[in-house]
Amino acid sequence: PLVLGLESSCDETGVGIVRGHTLLANEVASSVDLHVRFGGVVPEVASRAHLSALIPTLERAADTAGIDLADLDGIAVTAGPGLMGALVVGVASAKALAAYLGKPLYGVNHLVGHVAVDLLDHGPLPTPSLALLVSGGHTQLLHVEDIATKITEVGTTIDDAAGEAYDKVARILGLSYPGGPVIDRAAQEGDPTAIRFPRGLTARHDLEKHRFDFSFSGLKTAVARWVEQRRLDGLDVPVPDVAASFQEAVCDVLTAKTIDAAQHYGVDTILLGGGVAANSRLRTLLEQRATDAGIAVRRPRPALCTDNGAMIAAVGAEVIRAGLPPSGMGISAHSGLPVSTVLV
Ligand code: ATP
Ligand code: MG
Ligand code: FE
Repeated sequence: PLVLGLESSCDETGVGIVRGHTLLANEVASSVDLHVRFGGVVPEVASRAHLSALIPTLERAADTAGIDLADLDGIAVTAGPGLMGALVVGVASAKALAAYLGKPLYGVNHLVGHVAVDLLDHGPLPTPSLALLVSGGHTQLLHVEDIATKITEVGTTIDDAAGEAYDKVARILGLSYPGGPVIDRAAQEGDPTAIRFPRGLTARHDLEKHRFDFSFSGLKTAVARWVEQRRLDGLDVPVPDVAASFQEAVCDVLTAKTIDAAQHYGVDTILLGGGVAANSRLRTLLEQRATDAGIAVRRPRPALCTDNGAMIAAVGAEVIRAGLPPSGMGISAHSGLPVSTVLV
C-alpha cells in the first residue's frame, strides 16, 4: 500500500511516504533550535512550530516521492504517546487531510514506529523478536510476535529513560542539547574505563524483581557527584573520560539485559530502535555481544532512529497489511498511549 505518515509527538514535524516496505520520502523539520536555550523541549513552542511546519513539510514529501496524494491508500498519524499539544496538531491535520482526500485514517503508536522503521532498511521484521526501544522518553524491552497486532512489554525503566540520562549528563558537563549526539562524539576521545560508574538494577537482589528493567537516575546522580567533587578539589573535569565512562555504563546495562531477555524468550533476532539507537557505542556493543550469543541484530540507519514520519508510515503499512480496520475520524490524541496499543 501507498501510505503517508505524519509525526508530531515532540519537536520534529515529520512526513514520510512509503510504498509497502519501500521508503519514497522522509521530510523532517525540527524545532530543536528554538528549545536549545531552555535545555529541553518547551511544549507550547513545539506545538506552534508544528502548525507552521506541517504544510511545507507535506508538500516537500509529496514532491520528493513524486506521487499524487490522491493515489494514497491510507494516512497514518502519531496518536501517542507524546506531548498533548503537539500530538493534537498532527491528529487534527491528518483528519483534515483524510477528509479532503477521502482516504482511510490510521492513528498509530509512535513507539511502535521506532521499532517498525527498520523494515524500510532491511525488509520484513522476523518474528518473534525482542526489541530494545531506547528513546528520549522511553526505555523498554518488547517481545514482538507481530508488529501490527501483538507487542508485549517485558521490561521498562523505573525512573529516567536512557535518552533523558544522556540529556541530563550533557547538561551536567556543560554540553549542548540534545545531549545524546554530543556525548557520543565527546566519548570518542575518552577512556570508557576511566571511571567506574554504577550499572543500575544489575545487583543480584535487583535482578530478582527487575531482571528486564532499567534505572538510570542513580547513574546520573553518580556523574553529578563525581563532577562536583572534581570542581571542589579545584581540578579540571575530563569531559571525554566522563562522557565515555557514562556511555559505557549505559550501553553495558542496555546490551546485557537485552541479550538476557532475547535468550529468555528464545528469539534469534534483536530489533534496536529509538533515538538512542543512533548511538555508536550502543550499536557496536550490541552487535558484538549478540554475535557472541548467536543472535542477529537489526538496526535502522541512524537518520531513521530519531523521530520522523517514515516510521509512522511504516506502521500504517503494517496495520493495513494485517487487515486491521481504519481508526476513523473519531480518534483523539493519547499522551500516555501504551506500546501494546499499535492502532487506536
Ligand atoms: P519518545 O520516542 O520516547 O517519545 P522522543 O521521541 O523525544 O521520545 P527520540 O527522538 O526517539 O525521543 O530520541 C531522542 C533522544 O535520543 C534524545 O534524548 C537524544 O539525546 C537521544 N539521542 C540521539 N542521538 C543519540 C546518540 N547518538 N547517542 C545517544 N543518544 C542519542
Ligand atoms: Mg526530538
Ligand atoms: Fe521518539
